[in-house]
Amino acid sequence: MKKVVVIGGGPAGIRFSRQIKVALKDKVDVTMFMPEKNSAIYCAIPYAIEGLIEPEKVAKSDSLVTEVGVNLHHKKVTSVDFGNRKVYDDEGKAYEYDELFIATGSINFVPPIEGVDLANVMTVKFIEDMEKILERIENGAKKAVVVGAGAIGNELATAFVRRGLETYLVEMKDRVLPNMVDSDFADDLNEEHIKNGVKLLLEAKLERLEGNKWAEKVYIRLKDGSEKVIELSEVDFVVFAVGVRANVELFKDSPLMIGRDGIIVDSRMRTNLPGVWAAGDVCQYYSLIDGAPLGGKLATNAVPMAKVAAFNFLGVHEITYKGFLNAAASVVYETRVAAVGFTEEVAKMRGYDPVSAVGEGHTKFPIMPGVQKVKVKLIADRNTKRIIGAQFKGPYAIAEWNNTMSVFIQNKGTIYDVFDFNYTAQPHQSDFPGVGWLSDTAAQLIKKLRAK
Ligand SMILES: Cc1cc2nc3c(=O)[nH]c(=O)nc-3n(C[C@H](O)[C@H](O)[C@H](O)COP(=O)(O)OP(=O)(O)OC[C@H]3O[C@@H](n4cnc5c(N)ncnc54)[C@H](O)[C@@H]3O)c2cc1C
Repeated sequence: MKKVVVIGGGPAGIRFSRQIKVALKDKVDVTMFMPEKNSAIYCAIPYAIEGLIEPEKVAKSDSLVTEVGVNLHHKKVTSVDFGNRKVYDDEGKAYEYDELFIATGSINFVPPIEGVDLANVMTVKFIEDMEKILERIENGAKKAVVVGAGAIGNELATAFVRRGLETYLVEMKDRVLPNMVDSDFADDLNEEHIKNGVKLLLEAKLERLEGNKWAEKVYIRLKDGSEKVIELSEVDFVVFAVGVRANVELFKDSPLMIGRDGIIVDSRMRTNLPGVWAAGDVCQYYSLIDGAPLGGKLATNAVPMAKVAAFNFLGVHEITYKGFLNAAASVVYETRVAAVGFTEEVAKMRGYDPVSAVGEGHTKFPIMPGVQKVKVKLIADRNTKRIIGAQFKGPYAIAEWNNTMSVFIQNKGTIYDVFDFNYTAQPHQSDFPGVGWLSDTAAQLIKKLRAK
């Protein structure tokens, strides 16, 4: 029987283990390592903190893998002997493998500034992190400082302000969700935070934290050059949400090829070592749009990568991984935000000459009760006319519109393809047939490009 060891019990590890065990049953022995007591639905953590769902609902059950016969060890792997095909756990016990699947994910990045190791400075990833924050709130925390206004920082700040905390959201860029939306699409999102009571500090930088045991003072350099000092009590806290890094510590002196952003894999998720696979946040991969390395630490990249690995492990070699598009979504109070591909800012940084247009539509026919507006920004490459990015804002789950644009971008669709897009119209479910808001926005791009 083939022995497979899986390091990591996040979405990538779970998907791979389950899929190969279900397919091969007794022909494979799958052993998974995961030190935390429960894997988690990480993206639900802000909602558990807010009180919208019970914290217990964030935990994934071990049965996700054990019910199909995976041997799960709640232990850390402390070393891998690639030559002799063995991994060692934190008690020094060795486990042999024929094939190894690495899914050690990512770790939160904390900038190397003074005071980050003080007791009330934290990051959020695991259930244990959520529990620590909930405990502080229950123990009377009054203030929270969130550093980074990406999706996680944005959602955590919302949760804290809704729990009644004096909440600061500190962001180096000029807007919230800077990796998802451009400045011209973010004004009202910034405003939403302010309206809801968040003290939003844009173009600001947390410089240092000062205190004996806990961060008593937080020093922030503001846009105008002045310094803001926030004073914290022992239960108040600071959360860094400034991005993640591939968790490759275990492999740093190994023959495994590792790039700037993680383990290097091919399109079947094979590493440079025979019998060693990797998928998810731990990997470096490429943009589906321009083929150059691109950050993409998202569950919606990790799981498809793990699926590709599992299919290839099972011999279905025609399935390959095409690259990151980074379709993602977040919520700013009542506004749902979603985006895919490059922002205009990123497109310029990657050498494109982008052209963009903003369009507006409605959730229903405008004559129907409860109708609301939705907005889109489409970004195209002036030279090839390809759509390279889309951003959406609306009052309801806008993710499906974003997925529609994902399909266009993935298939190298042009502004003409979006213009031709055969849409659906029905009073309860869409705008008027005569509108076709995505198509009309593409028409704006066509006009803009002809005008040049
Ligand atoms: C608060 C939050 C919200 C998020 N929201 C979204 C969202 O809305 N949409 C989205 O697409 N993505 C979201 N993400 C990102 C998403 O969770 C990650 O991209 C995804 O979890 C990556 O999966 P993974 O399996 O590659 O790695 P991880 O989930 O990081 O899992 C890694 C696993 O490896 C284990 N491990 C590490 N080292 C060892 C070792 N030495 N031995 C044994 N085990 C080890 C870890 O304990 C863990 O079980 C969010 C993340 C967070 C933290």
